[in-house]
Amino acid sequence: RFISFEGIDGAGKSTHLEATEARLRACGADVLRSREPGGTPLAETLRELVLHQSMDPLTEALLVFGARRDHWLTVLEPALAAGRVLLCDRFADASFAYQGGGRGVAWEQLETLEQWTVAGRRPDLTLWFDLDPAEAARRRAAARDADRFEAQDLEFFERVRDAYARRAAAEPERFVRLDAGQAVSAVGAQLAAALQERGW
Ligand code: C5P
Repeated sequence: RFISFEGIDGAGKSTHLEATEARLRACGADVLRSREPGGTPLAETLRELVLHQSMDPLTEALLVFGARRDHWLTVLEPALAAGRVLLCDRFADASFAYQGGGRGVAWEQLETLEQWTVAGRRPDLTLWFDLDPAEAARRRAAARDADRFEAQDLEFFERVRDAYARRAAAEPERFVRLDAGQAVSAVGAQLAAALQERGW
């Protein structure tokens, strides 16, 4: 099965991704953890370009979907075929959120790219760490190494959040919204309940 972790920067998904990986491993699951953009040498190279170089929105979308295709073909698809549990820090929903909502690439173009690159494959479960953008900005303020996305203004992250909400509304079975404004332990409990509900 394939579980993705999504949310705006500063929502805390990385913390929970690590904890989830540890918990599933402790239960004996064969876990593969990866991230996007990235997860392969080529995709990590593309990630560096996208994160640190200015470019027009469609070019950015093409590069992240190119990275995603390489990641999907060489890492994710084989792991799923081998029966492993995939935990992925962002997947295609992030492109709808960031390149679509954030940067204004047309939804239909992104849907086409999603079909071309990963045949429209979606995670079995998407954990959406939803947080008020102002609170996320406060949390990010302490972080170092901000990339060009993390330096965006609140309106950018409002649009990203709205786009996640749009994807979530379209697939309520796949998306589980976690209230990331709560304490880490409380968010962890919401997450554990979502997995338990599915018998995972
Ligand atoms: O999740 P992570 O912090 O690793 O993401 C790295 C950066 O890439 C973030 O600032 C995120 O906003 C950005 N990103 C993006 N488009 C994507 C995925 C991530 O702009 N499709």
